[in-house]
Amino acid sequence: LRSKLPKVGTTIFSVMSALASEKNAVNLGQGFPDFDCDPTLVELVAGAMKSGFNQYPPMPGVPALRQAIAGKIEHLYGHRYDPATEITVTAGATQGLLTAIMCTVHPGDEVIVIEPAYDSYVPAIELAGGTPVLVQMELDANGYSVPWHKIAAAVNARTRMILVNTPHNPTGTVLTATDIQALADIVRGTDILILADEVYEHMIYDGARHESICRHPELAARAFIVSSFGKTYHVTGWKIGYVAAPAALSAEFRKVHQYSVFTVNTAVQHGIANYMQNPAPYLELPAFYQRKRDLFRAGLENSRFKLLPADGTYFICVDYSAISSLSEADFAIWLTSEIGVAAIPVSAFYQSPRESGIVRFCFAKQDQTLQQALQRLATI
Ligand code: PMP
Ligand code: GLN
Repeated sequence: LRSKLPKVGTTIFSVMSALASEKNAVNLGQGFPDFDCDPTLVELVAGAMKSGFNQYPPMPGVPALRQAIAGKIEHLYGHRYDPATEITVTAGATQGLLTAIMCTVHPGDEVIVIEPAYDSYVPAIELAGGTPVLVQMELDANGYSVPWHKIAAAVNARTRMILVNTPHNPTGTVLTATDIQALADIVRGTDILILADEVYEHMIYDGARHESICRHPELAARAFIVSSFGKTYHVTGWKIGYVAAPAALSAEFRKVHQYSVFTVNTAVQHGIANYMQNPAPYLELPAFYQRKRDLFRAGLENSRFKLLPADGTYFICVDYSAISSLSEADFAIWLTSEIGVAAIPVSAFYQSPRESGIVRFCFAKQDQTLQQALQRLATI
């Protein structure tokens, strides 16, 4: 069989989680909370099942959920999407990203991807027959940033789409209004689409504001915005999210959605629609995670790890070059096996070998888990 994805193996997240459990390590590798979601949310979903919401919902999603999503986006970011034609509920952000790429990228089209990049982007582009064009973030004393002049230089007549992710996995970088302006300047006068991965939209710290691409009307008109309830409501295993895009883009999106999943499970949609009536859970998320970030940061302050800024997401990157000259992958394996704390090598987010001496920790964990990890890391 001629593989369509010859370079793809098991994801680094599965590999490190398996090693963590084999070595009995504290798993700060794969991004997921080790605490449960709000029991109210479980009750609402169970209630929906008991009320008989167990057959196919409409193809683009339960209307009440699409209305709740449109209401939230308008309230937070000031952009009105029509729930009937512009919002589609997806089986997680992963399916939203793949579908947005499959419905727009033709063989020979180029898609600009900013590295380090979440691992599903490049395979999705390749499945569509597109060519990923990789531009690397720059790293200096202030952390990672996007060199927009390099993105501008990568644009040509074949460029179909630019993929952006804010807040950014794995670096925790948050795009500012100036970044968004630079992106708008690059695409103005072209027909380039934007695919905005905003799954960490509610995990943003130190009073900063999430610059959703849809706040910018010029960009909203050409953008797919992708988000995930898995992140926001601590239910990564439920695999549910959504894509918001102008009607013409959503119509193309739904053609592929209809024949890849058709629709997403009914009871969870009803449960989340009810739960969203209360904005507190997502409004409280920044304070909830900022405290965990600060707890973890404080524990490493006097270590030989150099902490990089962590302005958003539930990840923090650390530079271990004062500790070891191992490659990132080998250091992550050593840390898991010998110290008992699993991490993710940032090199796994690049297509070509790249060593910066940096690994990523996930701090979406109970305080006691973080403390146990810190005790072990203190022995290095
Ligand atoms: N994008 C990014 C940047 C992510 O970190 C994740 C979570 N692993 C996803 C997309 C996928 O989200 P979901 O689990 O909802 O498919
Ligand atoms: N998004 C998660 C992370 O970055 C992993 C999700 C997955 O395992 N595919 O760790």
